[in-house]
Amino acid sequence: MANATRLILLGGPGAGKGTQAKRLIKALSVPQISTGDLLRAARREGTALGLQAQSYMDQGKLVPDGLIIELVNERLAQPDAENGYILDGFPRTTAQADAMEVGGIAVERVVNIVVDDDELTQRLAERRICRDCGASFHLRFKVPAKAGICDACGGELYQRRDDSLEVIPERLAAYKEQTQPLVEYYDARGLVRTVDGTGAIDDIYGRIIEALK
Ligand code: AMP
Repeated sequence: MANATRLILLGGPGAGKGTQAKRLIKALSVPQISTGDLLRAARREGTALGLQAQSYMDQGKLVPDGLIIELVNERLAQPDAENGYILDGFPRTTAQADAMEVGGIAVERVVNIVVDDDELTQRLAERRICRDCGASFHLRFKVPAKAGICDACGGELYQRRDDSLEVIPERLAAYKEQTQPLVEYYDARGLVRTVDGTGAIDDIYGRIIEALK
């Protein structure tokens, strides 16, 4: 199987980073570290971080680097991250990537999942997420067997506030302006493999496994 276990998944919102990370963690036996999931958990729990992050998230803007870097450092200090990790949604700015380098957080491979804006918008606008297990569905492309109910665990499906047509353009813009420069950043370090993120989930997964060899 794949060699690299310290991975970054790059790609716009809705590119499939979370979906693919959930499969990769089984193959690689390392945890998925999603800053978006960690922030949503902080909001649910009503922590200080959650409160500070919420207005940025609801507007589709990036949460300030200082808060994110602290969050990731704490998460990476957990024992399950000792042998590797799949970073999903982090880093999202050059400052975050610099902080990783300075802090000695290793990166062996960066997989850049490419999907165009029209498709990202379609995927996000009709995406539904399970409140309990985080599984992701789509009203046309991955329809749950029972409307509003998660196939995997029976939990309630909901639409993320930032998956609305009002907020999606802001998220796409934040990606282009602040995150896309990381492709070049890591390319200069010889780490990037670009993968076509369109088509069947299994096919995309196969491309990622190839890219990790
Ligand atoms: P995601 O679930 O990855 O789409 O992230 C949802 C939202 O959380 C983003 O639109 C940002 O507001 C915030 N967020 C997640 N990860 C980061 C990050 N690395 N840097 C800044 N903001 C982030």
